[in-house]
Amino acid sequence: MQKNEGSAPSRHDLLVVGSANADLVVGVDRRPGPGETVLGSDLVVHPGGKGANQAVAAARLGARTALLARVGDDAHGRLLRASQQEAGVDTGGVLVGGAPTGVALITVDPSGDNSIVVSPGANARLTPGDIRAAAPLLATARVVSVQLEIPLDTVAETARSLAPGTRLVLNPSPPAPLPDEVLAACDPLVVNEHEARFILGEGAGSTPESWARGLTALGPRSVVITLGADGALVSDTRGGDPVRVPSPRVDAVDTTGAGDAFTAALAWRLGLGEDLAEAAGYAVRVGAAAVTKEGAQASFPTAEEVAAL
Ligand code: ATP
Repeated sequence: MQKNEGSAPSRHDLLVVGSANADLVVGVDRRPGPGETVLGSDLVVHPGGKGANQAVAAARLGARTALLARVGDDAHGRLLRASQQEAGVDTGGVLVGGAPTGVALITVDPSGDNSIVVSPGANARLTPGDIRAAAPLLATARVVSVQLEIPLDTVAETARSLAPGTRLVLNPSPPAPLPDEVLAACDPLVVNEHEARFILGEGAGSTPESWARGLTALGPRSVVITLGADGALVSDTRGGDPVRVPSPRVDAVDTTGAGDAFTAALAWRLGLGEDLAEAAGYAVRVGAAAVTKEGAQASFPTAEEVAAL
């Protein structure tokens, strides 16, 4: 078993601290205007939320994965825990109660355009105190991965609570201004083009290399920019110029969840000791495999499927 530098053997390759949502999807001929009611298709409920997605993506690849999240004491919460357990995720850190499980209310029209209302519910009640109380769980992981569908204070407390030698991977989605202490803890900060432009604002420049330079100047130890079909660009302050990591060419069917699959795979491989370019080389293949199938969690590949790509 590999060890964290100077600490006890890790029980988990990856701990994801983040959101868990039930995605409630209804197909409509036309999305309703103000004051209007339309009839839709039968309801379909999918497990989702960026935290839950990343945990399932990593576990499906074979990573020993745990999830620290909060769900409601309700049917959606039970569905989410069951889907995590089915994928092999350790759900001992999934807290229950305080508010209904987070939901995303999604209507999709025949052209594929959708309207989404998110009720964060229990995700908004995952507090800094919950993170402090989970210190023993945080100490079990080589890598901790967070996103921004939980309160920013909770993300900041996670960054402060890392055990020595544990690496923090942050995907700032949905994008929000980040405190310096959080930026400084990221290794790496993982963004897509939209998130990079949000963080950098005016003067972001027009190339991924310029975004990497701008983001690195904000303090993270490393930066990864995902570029859709073009793969990713990685930049590590510990040496070298930014490196482009191309993605395999695939027939993309649905890109939902590709970023979560990429980030989970990247975090896992970093924890196994790969360098940033190697880990991203694996993660682009995981992201590419995920876009060849419909849905988010349903599209995440196994290690065998990645090897066959
Ligand atoms: P999403 O929001 O759809 O989950 P994202 O915007 O966060 O995704 P992307 O950069 O679109 O992130 O995709 C993440 C990774 O998935 C890419 O780095 C790449 O490896 C893979 N990927 C995405 N789209 C494609 C594609 N069309 N062909 C091949 N690989 C893709």
